[in-house]
Amino acid sequence: MITKESIRQVALNAGADLCGFGDLNRFEGAPKDMDPRYVFPDAKSIICLAFRIPRGVQRGIEEGTQFYQYPSLAYGGINETFAPAVLYEVGKYIEDHGYEAVIYRNTGARGKVSDMTGEEGNTLSPEEQIIHHERTKNKTAHHRTVQFTRPVSEDKAAPDLQFHFRLAAVACGLGEIGWSKMLLTPEFGPMQRVAFIFTDAPLEPDPMYNGEPLCKKCMACVRECPGGCISKEESIKINVGGKTIEWGKLDEWRCYIYYTYPGKKHDPFIPTEVFEEHKDGKLRIYEYPEVKATENEVLNVYSVLDQYFPSWTGYNMAKCGGCIGACVNMLEKTGCLKGRFKEPFRTGKQRWKIDR
Ligand code: SF4
Ligand code: SF4
Repeated sequence: MITKESIRQVALNAGADLCGFGDLNRFEGAPKDMDPRYVFPDAKSIICLAFRIPRGVQRGIEEGTQFYQYPSLAYGGINETFAPAVLYEVGKYIEDHGYEAVIYRNTGARGKVSDMTGEEGNTLSPEEQIIHHERTKNKTAHHRTVQFTRPVSEDKAAPDLQFHFRLAAVACGLGEIGWSKMLLTPEFGPMQRVAFIFTDAPLEPDPMYNGEPLCKKCMACVRECPGGCISKEESIKINVGGKTIEWGKLDEWRCYIYYTYPGKKHDPFIPTEVFEEHKDGKLRIYEYPEVKATENEVLNVYSVLDQYFPSWTGYNMAKCGGCIGACVNMLEKTGCLKGRFKEPFRTGKQRWKIDR
């Protein structure tokens, strides 16, 4: 007989690191365009699988010596290879027992509304930057949203529906959202990526996470963000499954720029003279903090800097390491990651910075 525990065991045996079960009613109040219940209206359960990011994948960024492994393995590898293979195995197991399994891998941004702004429109996806640059040569831009999409009938949401992965993981009882807006779990802190299964199998949901608060509100993520993208004062609060979830207000467009191109002091791949040459033009965002980050500023920055560190993995080459490294460091000292490793992630007081 299929049970929650037998599914969990199949998922863990297939390579997931965590597996949680959620009640779909916990999405009550989600905006229609991001409500996962529209994907499979007869679903009775949502299952979240989490895949750990090995701490060592960030080592090169932490040392300032190797930047390829994190975006290629921890983004591309998990999203494109490891997680889909496990989803496939668990999906087969569920369907072998007579229930349907809608396996849902990380989709990137292809929804009616932008995952950057929550608005309809034609914004760009990180992994589509290269395609965008190629196509704009022929005047056909590539977009973050599918802006001409429409519901196939009045009672449905427009395709392709995307939901908020981190909140869905919280709804499956795996953890909390930290001040940095990252998903934190007791097992891995901020170091995991997630994928989902919707099924009509009736499965008892796991309780919402109810242990020690995982986020220590230490604000290390705020301090170590090279772009100042996370607010220290302003927060966003929402309700998931009766629990209030709060995180620091994040400037997503600014993060979009800085996590790939973190500026003069944190990006060893860009010659100093390039920053100088464009400081009043396309790279003005690095020079003048009052410049508002917009999609247009992203394009400005990418059009100048992309040639110095192009995306070889199909994903933007995340280089900042700021909020995740800061959080791992703090949680190893004061939180859920304490004592997990024989040696601490960070031994020096501060991360490196280029003196220029
Ligand atoms: S760095 Fe501190 S404040 Fe930020 S998410 Fe981690 S524990 Fe929370
Ligand atoms: S990913 Fe980097 S740029 Fe974005 S908020 Fe975190 S530290 Fe800042």
